[in-house]
Amino acid sequence: MHFPSPNHGERRGGLRPSLIVIHYTAMDSCAAARDRLCDPEAEVSAHWLISETGAAEALVPEERRAWHAGAGEWRGMGDINSRSIGIELANRGDHPYPEPQMQALERVLTGIMARWSIGPDGVIGHSDMAPGRKADPGPRFDWRRLARSGLAVWPAPQAPADPAGFDAAALAFGYPAGVSADLRLEAFRLRFRPWASGPADGTDAALALELARHFAA
Ligand SMILES: [Zn+2]
Repeated sequence: MHFPSPNHGERRGGLRPSLIVIHYTAMDSCAAARDRLCDPEAEVSAHWLISETGAAEALVPEERRAWHAGAGEWRGMGDINSRSIGIELANRGDHPYPEPQMQALERVLTGIMARWSIGPDGVIGHSDMAPGRKADPGPRFDWRRLARSGLAVWPAPQAPADPAGFDAAALAFGYPAGVSADLRLEAFRLRFRPWASGPADGTDAALALELARHFAA
């Protein structure tokens, strides 16, 4: 099999992938994104690129460390590139993800999760691990749909909780400690309550507590 991107290296410290990071390309076309992800001078890449029409291309072997995540952390772990598989979805960032693309993503995720024994709680967005720095896959990405197929997690709390408990729960679920509480709330909402605003409320707290209860590291 031919992998067209030269932008990868050895996973450090013998690490194996335990996370899958979902991105959008933020470029006008899938072809332009592919060029960039395969350009040695750009020094960026991802293991997979999925077009709007659902064509999935493997750019880097999954065993290798692709350069997609950059600075950030999840569950207290740094060097996310050494610990993850990166999937780029062709999307400018301001429009919905077409059905064929979502179906292809589901197929690709199912394969990766089986090959590397990664559970649904290991599937995260770039914005989760890099709050304030990254916003992809963005508010139009359908996390709930992935969760229904066991390909991501989605909380279903019974009742609101004390808003004061939000931040500790978000940290326990995995959001980075190295950023402000405001950025943690922003990143959390981008994924779980994209259209909410204002300070953390009882719904944010209930959602985060449910996630922490089931998936805390
Ligand atoms: Zn990204």
